Amino acid sequence: MTVFAIVSDIHANLEAFERVLEDIATKDIQDIFCLGDIIGYGPNPRECLELAQKYCRFSMIGNHEEAVMMIAEDFNDRARQAVEWTRNQLNDKTVPREQRREYWNYLDKLQKMEMLEKGRFLFVHGSPRVPTKEYIMPRDVQDAGKMRAIFEMVPQVCFVGHSHVPGVYTEQDLRYIHPRQMKESKFEFPSESKIIINAGSVGQPRDQDPRACYITFTEEWVQFHRVFYNVSAVVEKIQNSGGLPQYLADRLREGK
Ligand code: ZN
Repeated sequence: MTVFAIVSDIHANLEAFERVLEDIATKDIQDIFCLGDIIGYGPNPRECLELAQKYCRFSMIGNHEEAVMMIAEDFNDRARQAVEWTRNQLNDKTVPREQRREYWNYLDKLQKMEMLEKGRFLFVHGSPRVPTKEYIMPRDVQDAGKMRAIFEMVPQVCFVGHSHVPGVYTEQDLRYIHPRQMKESKFEFPSESKIIINAGSVGQPRDQDPRACYITFTEEWVQFHRVFYNVSAVVEKIQNSGGLPQYLADRLREGK
């Protein structure tokens, strides 16, 4: 059975990304896919872009990639500060010109949606309705109108990131299930109805668990994985970045 992995919302957290890639390397994985937000918030945007380009078969464009390429119009002040810091890193004159061009070319080619398995699996950053911007949150299962409209656009399985909260959303009974409610964090795909799977976040988890999150999946199931990484090293880099706000370091320790 072919097993794939998905990483999402790396957010320039190199320590977390490296640990996740190491963990993936211990398994028999055919391909790695990325759901976007490789950069933004964290201290190592260049290194994370290089790793994503090297190891991921494709990556979706996230709102943070969009923001560095255009203007961060719908970001709050602190998030915009991180976007500007990131853009400066990618344009840093100490990096060879060719390499800098490579970053922007890579960003430029990222797609909003991808499909696999004859269209059975859909990949987007946020939601199929508004690919880079719409959030699907656990509380949305109470908003049947929103969830129905989104599920209309799901072929059978849709992989999303963006909220940094891992789990499965079911169409049939409109439920959200966190991996800790699953046996061995594994969920079997229902044969008749659709599901949306949030892959969680590698570099900035927000479900009160600071460990990096990623998923593996086959045609039949998805499994959520958590790995420890050196949070303190990243916190220190953010504090010494000369531009990234302190709250971005604090939230890594708490996973929120
Ligand atoms: Zn994100």
